Amino acid sequence: MQPPSTNSHNQREHVYIYLNWLRYSFVTQGGNISRRTLRHFREAANVPTPDVIVNCLGIAARDLVDDRAVYPIRGHTVLVHAPHVKIAISRLGKDVTYIIPRENGDVILGGTMESDNSDPTVDLSTSIAILDRCEALYSGLRKGMVYKTSQVGFRPARKGGVRVETEVLGYQTSWGSSNRVVELIEQEWVQLENKARL
Ligand SMILES: Cc1cc2nc3c(=O)[nH]c(=O)nc-3n(C[C@H](O)[C@H](O)[C@H](O)COP(=O)(O)OP(=O)(O)OC[C@H]3O[C@@H](n4cnc5c(N)ncnc54)[C@H](O)[C@@H]3O)c2cc1C
Repeated sequence: MQPPSTNSHNQREHVYIYLNWLRYSFVTQGGNISRRTLRHFREAANVPTPDVIVNCLGIAARDLVDDRAVYPIRGHTVLVHAPHVKIAISRLGKDVTYIIPRENGDVILGGTMESDNSDPTVDLSTSIAILDRCEALYSGLRKGMVYKTSQVGFRPARKGGVRVETEVLGYQTSWGSSNRVVELIEQEWVQLENKARL
C-alpha cells in the first residue's frame, strides 16, 4: 500500500464556471449545441447526419455502447461555508481526503472512491466521517463553519483502461484526451480523402 501523502495546492477549477467557459468558447467559435436523449449510441448518426461522432458519454457508455468494462466510482462530498479556509489540501491514503475552497467562501470537502457502487443516496455517517477526516487535515476547519449540503457523484472508469479514441476522462486529462481525439479524427480524415481520390 502507498504511504499517505499530503499536498497543499492552489491550482483548482470551479467546475460550473469552467464548464460554462468551455460552452461559451465552443459557441462563440461557431459551435452549435443540440440536446437529445439517446437510447443507443447509434442514434447519434441521425442527429442530423454528422461527419464525425465523438463518443464522450462517460458512465452512460456502459449501456449506450454496451461496454461492460465501464463502471462507476462513487464519490461522496460535503459542501460547507467556511471563508476562513483559503488553501486547498488533499491527502491520499486508505481514503482520499480533500479540502477545496471556492472564491465565494464555500468549501468542498471530500471524499470517497467507491468502485462499482452506483448508490445515489447521500449517507449522513459518510458526511460526518468526511468532516472528521478534513478536520484532522485542517485543524480549526469546523470553527465558524456552516454546513450546506452533501452530494454523491459518479466518476466514469473502465476496466482495462480508457479508450482514448472514444473517451475523455476527467477535467485533469480532458485537454490531452481532446487533443488526441482531434489527431485521430484528422488522421482518419486524410485516409478517407486519399481513398476518395483513388
Ligand atoms: C466527487 C467527484 C470528484 C471528482 N473530482 C475530480 C477532480 O478533482 N479532477 C478531475 O479531473 N476529475 C474529477 N472528477 C471526475 C470528473 O467529474 C469526471 O471524470 C468527468 O465529469 C467525466 O467527464 P466526461 O465528459 O467523460 O463524462 P460526463 O461528465 O459524465 O459526461 C457525459 C455526458 O453524456 C451525456 N449523456 C449521458 N447519457 C446520455 C444519453 N442517454 N443521451 C444523450 N446524452 C447522454 C450526459 O448528459 C453528459 O453530458 C470527480 C468526480 C466526482 C464524482
